[in-house]
Order: sequence, then C-alpha cells, then structure tokens
Amino acid sequence: MEQEDINSFIEHNLKNFSVNSTGWNDLIGKMLSELIAAGWNMKHDVFGKEKFGGLRCSIYSEDEELNARLRTITHKYARLSGKTCEICGNEGKLRIINSWETTLCINHFIDQKPIMEIDEQQNVIYEKKSILNMKDIVKAEVEFDLKQLNLYIQNPIATDEPFSFAGQDPNYYLLLNAVPLHLFPEGMQGRISDLFQNLKDCEICGHKALYHQSCLRCHNEPWGSSKYHEDDYGEKLEYIKECQMDMFIDEDGYEEYFKYDHSFEKIPGHQILFTPADLEEYKKLLF
Ligand SMILES: [Zn+2]
Ligand SMILES: [Zn+2]
Repeated sequence: MEQEDINSFIEHNLKNFSVNSTGWNDLIGKMLSELIAAGWNMKHDVFGKEKFGGLRCSIYSEDEELNARLRTITHKYARLSGKTCEICGNEGKLRIINSWETTLCINHFIDQKPIMEIDEQQNVIYEKKSILNMKDIVKAEVEFDLKQLNLYIQNPIATDEPFSFAGQDPNYYLLLNAVPLHLFPEGMQGRISDLFQNLKDCEICGHKALYHQSCLRCHNEPWGSSKYHEDDYGEKLEYIKECQMDMFIDEDGYEEYFKYDHSFEKIPGHQILFTPADLEEYKKLLF
C-alpha cells in the first residue's frame, strides 16, 4: 500500500462525509487511514455524517472479524468528535443552539449564540451592534416567573414586536436590573425589586445570586433546602465540594459560557473547597 494511494483515498472519501464544516477533516482522515490499516478495501468508498453533534460512520464488510475491528475504530472517532469543534478542530463540547446539538469550541459557540452586553452609554449590544439604548425603552414586561424580559422602544422600525431576552442567557439579570422599574406594570415592580433586594450569597459559586431556594447564577440549591441533602451527602462541606467539582468539570460548557456573565457580584474571599485529590477521586466515580 502506497502512502500516495492512501492520501488520495482520504481526499476522495472526505467528500462522502456530510458534516457541517471542516473542523473534523483531520479526524476523518486519521479514521480512514486506521480503517485501511485494519483491512478495509480501498476499492470501496466510506460514508459518514454528523448526527447529534457527533461523527457517525457505518461501514460494513462481509467479514465479521473485520467488522469488529472497523467498529472499534469508528466508535473511537465518534467519541473523539464529541470533543472536537466541528468548525475549527480545536477542543470542543456538545452545545445546544435552539434545540440543535452541535460540537463547538467556546469561540464558535459564542459566534452562534452571541452574548448580550450593556456598554457605558447604556446601549444594549448584540452581535457587536447596538440594538437599543436604555433611554429609548418606553415599556417593559416580564413573563414566565421573571425568566423572560420584553422591552418596547419608541417608534420601532416596521414592527411592534418587543426585544425579548431570556433568563438562561448571560447578562440577563444585569439587563433586568438596569431597566428603570417604573417602566414595568405596577403589579410586576414589587417582584422585580424583591429579587434584587433579597439576593443572598451562594456558597457554591461565590456569587451574590441566591434567590429563595436556588442560585440564579449556578442553579444549585443551598445546603439543607432539600431533605435528601443529608442522606445523600452527610454534611454540608461534602455537598458544596461536589457541586463545586461539577462546576469545575463543566461537562455541558455552561461555566465556560457564563464567564461572560456580569449579572451578579462576586463574594470576596469565596473558597473552593475541593482539593486536586478530591477531584481525581470524583472523576473516577463519574467516568
Ligand atoms: Zn471552533
Ligand atoms: Zn451559585
């Protein structure tokens, strides 16, 4: 087998992979050369696609032993694809964009799901453009238990639709807090001011973001808010440690994305309670 033949096989078969971009080309190339080394006949094309953010490749031969070897290889690359950005090939994570699953690095995820910010001139910035200025808001509303904010401006261009913001997006509470209270209907004003006046310190993530029984920043509940805590963790220290380790491992990429959230004050002197040894132990249990 000449390397040249293998290269042209790879080049030719890359076109048979229905993927979103070129970030996986390297992986696909390596997979194809391993398939050949395992015994795949280069006379036959290999096909594959992206599905649910992972690389899928189903190839089949008449030879059962060969099939088992091929499967081991395709499974290995399915796993690797789940950690590789589909666009650039850097380290990625499975992310969800409008219920569509895709594996992206943090930068390409932010390209797809830009972070809203407020600048010093009170412009609300989205996709690097000012979409409205706080001074232009004439009416505001909240829905869904304060998890959605609708803003109306004077003289909207061509539409009466409000600007809508969702509670699961970074800087949501920063914006909610910045909208003058009197712009909300009277019935809502009390709830909004109650939220910002009653935030408590979250010992898990270290933000002043605890509202009633849930943290608006890390979504953990405080120790003791559930009767299962004591049964499951024994003591508070263990509970906080485990929640902090989950945040650190950040399997769903939430923390990476919410680094850009400035909604809540950081608590000075907040402590991370787990040690590197705790983390090693915990990972063994998880993976
Ligand atoms: Zn990328
Ligand atoms: Zn928290």
